[in-house]
Amino acid sequence: MNLTGTHIAYFHTCHRKLWLFAHGIQMEHTSDIVAEGKLISETTFLDRTRKYTELAIDGVKIDFYDAKNKVIHEVKKSDKIEHAHIAQVKYYMYVLQKNGIDGVTALLEYPKMRQREIVEWEIGDVRVVEEWIAQVRQIISQSSCPELIKKPICKKCSYFDFCYATES
Ligand code: SF4
Repeated sequence: MNLTGTHIAYFHTCHRKLWLFAHGIQMEHTSDIVAEGKLISETTFLDRTRKYTELAIDGVKIDFYDAKNKVIHEVKKSDKIEHAHIAQVKYYMYVLQKNGIDGVTALLEYPKMRQREIVEWEIGDVRVVEEWIAQVRQIISQSSCPELIKKPICKKCSYFDFCYATES
């Protein structure tokens, strides 16, 4: 199975969320994926003078790829820069490298904060990303769902109702 950027991002958010997503359990209407896809107004933040391509490669879908400058643009609705976002674009860079596209950087865009974060490929990242991939595969191959993490992020998670339905 090809992994997506979402698998990598969820790995860095909550292993239970990763497992639920990988096993096809999605919460309709409230899912993060749907929300991310509805960033219509927020994508106006992108520099319109640049040309973006939608790139689908090895199961990864990059919505805004500036092929001329080799820059991945990833728009996030979040109001803070999260390690999961950085990991997601690092995974994209890894996949591009594996397909012979080197020298790619990424720009995380946070319209709510009017902020941008440049993410660059660093020495040792191949080993780091491959370790994430191995761990993601190990988690999703488990026969049962990892335990609840019970953290503040649960309140904003699309699986909240699912996870807390039986909690008192
Ligand atoms: S509600 Fe919490 S425990 Fe459940 S998947 Fe989301 S983050 Fe993980």
